[in-house]
Amino acid sequence: MQAFSGTIKVKADGVISTVPPLINTIFYKGENSMTAHSVSKICSVEGCEQVARRKELCDRHYMRMYRRGTLALRHRSPLEDYADWFWLQVRPVPSTCWEWQRSKSSTGYGHARFNGRIRHAHIISWTLTYGIEPTKWILHSCDNRICVNPAHLREGSAAENTQDMIDRDRRKHCVLGPKLKTDDVVKIRVRRASGESLKSIAASFGVTVQTISFTVNRRTHRGVA
Ligand SMILES: [Zn+2]
Ligand SMILES: [Zn+2]
Repeated sequence: MQAFSGTIKVKADGVISTVPPLINTIFYKGENSMTAHSVSKICSVEGCEQVARRKELCDRHYMRMYRRGTLALRHRSPLEDYADWFWLQVRPVPSTCWEWQRSKSSTGYGHARFNGRIRHAHIISWTLTYGIEPTKWILHSCDNRICVNPAHLREGSAAENTQDMIDRDRRKHCVLGPKLKTDDVVKIRVRRASGESLKSIAASFGVTVQTISFTVNRRTHRGVA
């Protein structure tokens, strides 16, 4: 007897039934006539090795025929091809940030070429998701500039965008492990404005010259007036 790669079940009453593997079962003839239904044909679509279920087609090809009336693949638009490429550049795990894995702009946003222009990746994400370019500002509710998860993007006004940036700066520089208190920052700026050296101010606050320089030049503590 020919080697059989399907599973063999022995029922309680001793009757042996066979369940063929899903592919290449066309040549198999079960010894037990009870299994005649399991002699399967392969889908008639060239290159497809799935079992034919209806009209000599596998489920997938049958459904394609049923829905579209043809087996020919629909012509894909350049936009669909672009979208395929775009979503391959992130790991789209639900409820996490989808971080853009390619290049970033100098402002820290993901960016890519889209419709002949370099655009922010999250704007492209929005456009691909909703089918239209946004008319308002697109804000990250997750604060992660390289995130392109549509669920983390929302429309807002320019004012909201500015407020978001201020809040972000405040969190980054003034709340998360600040080296200097807000009133220290004010004092430092006043002392520097009156001509005191960075080195001298740094020494009196016990921080580096660079910290003072950044504070004075508003590279940090931008949220402080
Ligand atoms: Zn098929
Ligand atoms: Zn995010």
